[in-house]
Amino acid sequence: MTTLHDMATAALAACGATTEFTRGDLLSRTPLTGENLLAVDASTQEETEAAIAHAAKAFRRWREVPAPARGAVVKRWGELLREHKRDLATLVQIEAGKSMSEAEGEVQEMIDICDFAVGQSRMLYGKTMPSERPGHRLMETWHPVGVVGVISAFNFPVAVYSWNTAIALVCGNTVVWKPSEMCVLSALGAHGLLRRAVLDCDQDPEIHQLVLGAAERGEQLVDDPRVALVSATGSTRMGREVAPRVAARFGRYLLELGGNNAGIVTPSARLDLALRGIVFAAAGTAGQRCTTMRRLIVHESVAEELIGTIVEAYRSLTIGDPRDESVLVGPLINEAAMTAMQDALRQAEAEGGEILIGGERVLVDANEQSFYVEPAVVRMPAQSEVVRTETFAPILYVLTYTDFEEALEMHNAVPQGLSSAIFTQDQAEAELFLSAGGSDCGIANVNIGTSGAEIGGAFGGEKDTGGGRESGSDAWKAYMRRATNTVNYGGELPLAQGVKFL
Ligand code: NAD
Repeated sequence: MTTLHDMATAALAACGATTEFTRGDLLSRTPLTGENLLAVDASTQEETEAAIAHAAKAFRRWREVPAPARGAVVKRWGELLREHKRDLATLVQIEAGKSMSEAEGEVQEMIDICDFAVGQSRMLYGKTMPSERPGHRLMETWHPVGVVGVISAFNFPVAVYSWNTAIALVCGNTVVWKPSEMCVLSALGAHGLLRRAVLDCDQDPEIHQLVLGAAERGEQLVDDPRVALVSATGSTRMGREVAPRVAARFGRYLLELGGNNAGIVTPSARLDLALRGIVFAAAGTAGQRCTTMRRLIVHESVAEELIGTIVEAYRSLTIGDPRDESVLVGPLINEAAMTAMQDALRQAEAEGGEILIGGERVLVDANEQSFYVEPAVVRMPAQSEVVRTETFAPILYVLTYTDFEEALEMHNAVPQGLSSAIFTQDQAEAELFLSAGGSDCGIANVNIGTSGAEIGGAFGGEKDTGGGRESGSDAWKAYMRRATNTVNYGGELPLAQGVKFL
């Protein structure tokens, strides 16, 4: 029988990643069974220092490579990702515990951002504006910032990293990546494929560096002045540590932090559509998406009917090892996640909540080392503290409202501001939700759930979510610095604002 260890080793080799480790001081564990699969090498402080130095040196050459030629490297990466979609998805499934459909979807997101970035490599547009002075041209030009440090979370071990990397590279930056210590094999696989792409295009492999280890390796990127931009994805707790440290050295940061995403269901909503959107967003990926729906704000006139169908749908969710293709809900990442879920449920009950379904641990194959849970639905009173917190597990808090203004207020009354949704057939309500006085989130959807964004739009959120924007649209500007240029091609030297001097 093929073991998980064999599957992981074969997938790594197929991606062109190393499978030979000398120190073996970083254990890769799978949440599927809880077993340790491979002992890889954590990067030392000196190795991380060297990685930053190599990236800084490579930047001096890479920034001179024409942007479309930089795009060619990313194009090749996209081709290799297509070819090795199943290999990389296997590593993601093993380490993040996703269904194969979701794991392949994650790799598809990498492919999509590669396609986008290739186009972007020919569209790093600057503006030309009319100068107020005769014989002058006024324009803006965009230049790479230098070394971009990418710190990523466990739950999207490769997709969010690739948003940063594909765009950063075409913009002319080099990248040092510190992935989640819980997903090192996925990182080795993605890095292996990118390295192959760089070499296939006869470019310098030093433009991309991989640093493996826990938070202290990330902190090294945060504190190093050679890292011009720190793009960090993870918890709000992590962002609170990163932001002031980077700001203290006047570095740039781009933060993608925790969410506490809500869906509003109004009386006119199509409940069949709302049901599917809600259940996927709340229970999919075992509640371990930054965009997971954690709060449902439903009008009291449709609450009983909707809650009834949600509970019914939850009863049919298959929970278990997602290598079985009929499984919809895989494991939590570790025991700490399960404990956090149990603690949140106890707090919810203490605050007057009623658990309508779920919340219990599910033992799969009588294995105490893996942590599977039943997704929970909890009816909550209007006022409670627990609903203000992101618990990274499948808990859906249900609240009811009577008038629309109240629903919007409840919606925005949390510290986080990532994703949001409204289910309604009433155009005025939909427009209000999307207006300045509506959802205060970075993502606001109508008649679809909170999760499952496409790469074409800018992705990110407000308030405690950190304010960063990544992926599509004009997010590329975060990876470049802007210079305003005035060129005098006339024979005179007029001063701006008509100032006279000499
Ligand atoms: P985490 O904050 O524990 O870790 C994220 C990364 O930060 C890891 O690589 C970790 O080693 C590193 N890190 C931790 N402390 C650090 C520090 N002081 N300095 C530098 N690096 C540090 O998050 P996690 O448990 O891996 O991921 C789950 C969290 O990520 C959730 O809160 C989720 O909402 C969030 N998330 C947000 C987005 C988004 O786009 N907004 C996307 C995915 C995940």
